[in-house]
Amino acid sequence: MTKTVHHWIGGKTVEGTSGNWGPVTDPATGAVTTRVALASAEEVDAAVAAAKDAFATWGTSSLAQRTTILFAFRALLDAHRDAIAELIVAEHGKVHSDALGEVARGLEIVDLACGITTQLKGELSTQVSNRVDVAAIRQPVGVVAGITPFNFPAMVPMWMFPIAIATGNTFVLKPSEKDPSPSLKIAELLAEAGLPDGVFNVLHGDKVAVDRLLEHPDVAAVSFVGSTPIARHIHATASANGKRVQALGGAKNHMLVLPDADLDAAADAAVSAAYGSAGERCMAISAVVAVGSIGDELVEKIRERAEKITIGPGTDPGSEMGPLITAEHRDKVASYVRGAADEGCQVVLDGTGHTVEGYENGHWIGLSLLDHVPTTAAAYRDEIFGPVLCVLRAETYEEGLALINASPFGNGTAIFTRDGGAARRFQLEVQAGMVGVNVPIPVPVGYHSFGGWKDSLFGDHHIYGNDGVHFYTRGKVITTRWPDPSDAPAGVDLGFPRNH
Ligand code: NAD
Repeated sequence: MTKTVHHWIGGKTVEGTSGNWGPVTDPATGAVTTRVALASAEEVDAAVAAAKDAFATWGTSSLAQRTTILFAFRALLDAHRDAIAELIVAEHGKVHSDALGEVARGLEIVDLACGITTQLKGELSTQVSNRVDVAAIRQPVGVVAGITPFNFPAMVPMWMFPIAIATGNTFVLKPSEKDPSPSLKIAELLAEAGLPDGVFNVLHGDKVAVDRLLEHPDVAAVSFVGSTPIARHIHATASANGKRVQALGGAKNHMLVLPDADLDAAADAAVSAAYGSAGERCMAISAVVAVGSIGDELVEKIRERAEKITIGPGTDPGSEMGPLITAEHRDKVASYVRGAADEGCQVVLDGTGHTVEGYENGHWIGLSLLDHVPTTAAAYRDEIFGPVLCVLRAETYEEGLALINASPFGNGTAIFTRDGGAARRFQLEVQAGMVGVNVPIPVPVGYHSFGGWKDSLFGDHHIYGNDGVHFYTRGKVITTRWPDPSDAPAGVDLGFPRNH
């Protein structure tokens, strides 16, 4: 073990004092490289107090000051893309090019935050009644907590804090304890960009830290991204404690392939979207629904492509797919593949037992492809979060759509077809928050919002874009009357105010 990761509170490193530490592993070697401090409830209180102190001035800082800092941060982030990607590869295991993609998608939200002046312009109606004007403004909510998952240790925090701080809030980030270092690098860059101390804090920890954040009286809002059971807990607990909360959960994303689709393009897309980042993406395609008689041909095309994927450490430019986050998770993923045949699936590719020469202790698993998967199989029902693609068959569009809409999840989905009319129907009829038409991973750009339906999101707001601005601000409407100097006094009127 070579490294210790501490908290970042009030603009500086603060050593963990709870006595509890978590291990951080290099997934490619299986070696524990780092220990991360796990915060106690008292340490959470210290981070929230720093954020609350900072809010006293940051909440009323000028938009010009905020955007100057955000533009400086954007330039630093751009210059340090590689350094952040290296930290992601070392602790998450994804390949370097994929880590760079994650930083780029996070940077999109910083771009949006740099333009917050436009988003916060407010509204004004003049002369709504005689000599009366009405203005609508939005103000920050206060101290915001962000709780994030392991699979995007840089991008998901950047879905949250750029807009939160641009709108005048202060932020306490509780990143995943499995890959905590990218968030600290971001904290250092924000400080270098001139962000006042305490506006952005990083608190490492597990359930103890999260549960204290959820009940802390000085935390006004909670943004969460992670698995569905935890998202449900976060939403229920934070709501019960009177907080504004958005909790994004897990997924099982379906790709519907119609008989008229370009099957080569569909197979390319299915392989990229199912196995990229070893399937550890909330927008990964994990179920392909083949409509009509194309199933066998499509499965063969997917198999051919999947067999050619190079698995290896994320540091090797030749690797296309890295290891899984932990050995326990790898074993759990493997158990779905091993149990698949007994549940009626046809195992076309079995990735279990895969190893990489020179990296024998890494958390490896190869690509698995299951065909003729019944909806009762655990591999279909559960979010596996690994490189396992299920193929299901449907006779018709309607049958395929019904299958997708019966899923408890509703994050992303895609249709592959050349038929514009069918694609249009799908957009309107499918129950999911993000839809791709011949686009397998339809993650919205930064100025639209990201979020699923059903068990993929608890709360009313999607994340980033306009929804992000709304989530991190409260509306206020101001009604003003300035009598003309020539007006006579209005006199007393006990009636309810009417406009005329
Ligand atoms: P996770 O739910 O295990 O952890 C997420 C966060 O919650 C972490 O910070 C973790 O420390 C904390 N946490 C874990 N257990 C907790 C508990 N019992 N009480 C309080 N806090 C707890 O998720 P993960 O394994 O880190 O990430 C993978 C999951 O995240 C997948 O389900 C994936 O689909 C989901 N995800 C969803 C989206 C989305 O936008 N919907 C995006 C990325 C990831």
